Amino acid sequence: MSTLNKQPTGIPEADLAIIGGGSAGISLASQLYGLSAVIIEPKTPAERDCSWALWANAEQQKQLAPCTKGRWKQWRLIDHQREIIHRSDQYSYTSLSAAQYLSQCENNLADGIELIRASAENIQVRGNGGSFTAAGQTYSAAQLYDSRPPTMADNCLKQHFLGLEIRTKSPIENPEIATLMDFRVDQSRGLHFIYVLPFSDDLLLIESTMISRTIEDKNWYLNAIHQWLEQQNIEPLETISQEQGVIPMDRVEPIDAGIANIGAASGAVRLSSGYAFTNIQAQVSALARGIRGGQYEVPEPIAPSLIRMDKIFNAVLLAEPELGVSVMMSTASALDANGFARFMLGSASLLDWARVIMAMPKLPFLKQVFTP
Ligand SMILES: Cc1cc2nc3c(=O)[nH]c(=O)nc-3n(C[C@H](O)[C@H](O)[C@H](O)COP(=O)(O)OP(=O)(O)OC[C@H]3O[C@@H](n4cnc5c(N)ncnc54)[C@H](O)[C@@H]3O)c2cc1C
Repeated sequence: MSTLNKQPTGIPEADLAIIGGGSAGISLASQLYGLSAVIIEPKTPAERDCSWALWANAEQQKQLAPCTKGRWKQWRLIDHQREIIHRSDQYSYTSLSAAQYLSQCENNLADGIELIRASAENIQVRGNGGSFTAAGQTYSAAQLYDSRPPTMADNCLKQHFLGLEIRTKSPIENPEIATLMDFRVDQSRGLHFIYVLPFSDDLLLIESTMISRTIEDKNWYLNAIHQWLEQQNIEPLETISQEQGVIPMDRVEPIDAGIANIGAASGAVRLSSGYAFTNIQAQVSALARGIRGGQYEVPEPIAPSLIRMDKIFNAVLLAEPELGVSVMMSTASALDANGFARFMLGSASLLDWARVIMAMPKLPFLKQVFTP
C-alpha cells in the first residue's frame, strides 16, 4: 500500500524521491526514516550482481558481514622484479556481493520509504524537487536526488575489465592472499594487470583489468586471464559467472546537472583507482544525517585536494604510460599495509603522503604539476 500523500490532482506526493537504487540510492534510502520517500529502480539486485571491494575496518566488517563474499588480511602486488605482500592488523580487503548488499538495503527500508521497480521517465525539475513518471504513474517530490550513472567522454581514461568466477580442478596455493595487481601480463596497450580474489582454495574471481582510453575486445581480456592461469598452473574446472565493467577515471557528466546528484554521478569514483564504495557510503551517511536535521545539500564525496592529486597521477599515466607499473609498485613498497589501505581509501596521513611522494619519479610528476 502506498504511504505517499495524494495531492488534489491525484498525483502521489513524497517528501523526497531518489532516482536510481544502486549503491548510492538504496544506501541513502535505507538510512531514511520519519518521512515519505520513493526510490525508483528498474533492475532487481540479481540483475546487477558483481563484486564490490573495499578496505574495511573492524566495524565495517561487522556491518557488511551478511553480504561479504570474501575477506583478506593479506594482499599483494607483483611484477617481474618483485612481490610486495601487505599484512594488515586494521583493515581487511573485503569483497561484497553487490546483489546481497542491494537486497539487504531494499529489505531494510523504513515505513514510508517505498521502492518502485521501474524506470523514472519524463523528469521535470521544480526547484529542489520535481515530478516524473514510473510504471505509468506520475510522482512528485519536494526534494529529488539523482543517481543515474553519469556519462563519460569516449576517449577519457578509464578502468575497464572482464572477470570470471571460476572453480579450479585442484586447490590453489595461498588462498589467504588477495592479488590486487599482477603486472606480469601484456603491457603494450596500457597499464594492465590481473586481479585475483580467492574466495576459497578452489573458487576464484579473476579479472583482466586495463587502465587506458580504449576498451578492448572481450576475447582480449579472456586470453589474458587464460594465459595467466596457464602460467600459474591453475586449471579451471568450470566458469560460474562473468562480469564486465567500465569505470571512468576522468571527469563525468551527470545526466541532469539540474538535479542534486549522488554517488558516481556526483563524482564519487576515485579518479586514480576506480574505487567508490567507501566514498559513496560516507557521502550518503552524511546526507541522511543532514536530511534528518532538515539539511538537503549533498556533501562532496571526495576532497578537492585529493581530486587534484589524482588528476596529476592520471596525467603522468597518460603522458608516460611505461611508468605505470613502477609507480604502482613504488606506492605499495613505500607504505605498510595500513598506510596502503588508508592511501587507497583516500584517508592517507601526511606521513603516508610524504612516503609516497619520496618514492615517485620526480620529473614526470613535476612536469604534470606545472602543465596548465
Ligand atoms: C562492474 C563494476 C564493478 C565495480 N567494482 C567496484 C569495487 O570493487 N569497489 C568500488 O569501490 N567501486 C567499484 N565500482 C565503482 C562504483 O562503486 C560502482 O559503479 C557503484 O555502483 C556506483 O554507485 P552509484 O549508486 O553511483 O551507481 P549505480 O550503482 O550504477 O546505480 C545507479 C542506478 O540507477 C539505475 N537507473 C538508471 N537509469 C534509471 C532511470 N531512468 N530510472 C531509475 N533508475 C535508473 C540503474 O539501474 C542503477 O541501479 C564498480 C563499478 C562497476 C561498473
